[in-house]
Amino acid sequence: MTTAYVGFGSNLGDRRFYIREALRLLDEVPGIKVKRVAPLYRTAPVGLTEQEWFFNTVAEIDTSLSPHALLAALLAVEARLGRVRTRRWGPRTIDLDILLYGDLRLHTPDLTVPHPRLTERAFAVVPLADLAPEMILPGGAKARDLAAALAAGQEISRVEEDLDGCVRSKK
Ligand code: ATP
Ligand code: CA
Ligand code: CA
Repeated sequence: MTTAYVGFGSNLGDRRFYIREALRLLDEVPGIKVKRVAPLYRTAPVGLTEQEWFFNTVAEIDTSLSPHALLAALLAVEARLGRVRTRRWGPRTIDLDILLYGDLRLHTPDLTVPHPRLTERAFAVVPLADLAPEMILPGGAKARDLAAALAAGQEISRVEEDLDGCVRSKK
C-alpha cells in the first residue's frame, strides 16, 4: 500500500457536483481507498484568466496500484465525468492530478511525480497542507509554510462544504 495525494479541480458546469462525484468514483476503484479529504476551496484561474473560477481540493488515498495504473484510473474517472480536452489549461469539468505518490520520484513521458507544478500552486498546496501540514515538499519547504506563502499571493478562499460524506467508506 502506498499513500498518495490526488489534486481535484473543476471550473465547468456543476463544479461542486463534479468534485463530489470524482471522490465517490475514485473511492470505488479497486485498489484505491480515499482516506481523508481536505476542505473545498474556490480559486481564481491562472493562465487563461477569462475562465470561471475553480473549485479545488486534495484527497489522501491508500493505493495498491502502480503510479501508471493510478494515472489510468484518474483519466478514466475524468472521462466518465465528461471531460473533453480542448486546449491546454482550458476549462474542464474535472481534472485529477497525482500530486505525490509516497516518496517516489518519477519522470516518464506521460507521468511526472511529484507533480512538476505542485509547489507553485496555492490551489494544490493549501488543501495538501490541511491534510499534511508538517510534510516536507519538493524544494524543501514545509507544506504549512509554503501554503501560507502561496495563499498570500493568489486568490483562494475556503468553501463551507463537507466532502467526506461523498465517500462511501466514510459514511
Ligand atoms: P497541469 O499538468 O499543469 O496541471 P493539466 O492537468 O490541465 O495541466 P492535463 O491535460 O490534465 O493537464 O494532463 C495532460 C497529461 O499530463 C496527462 O494525460 C498525463 O499523461 C500527464 N501527467 C504527467 N504527470 C502527471 C501527474 N502527476 N498527474 C496527472 N497527469 C500527469
Ligand atoms: Ca492539473
Ligand atoms: Ca491533469
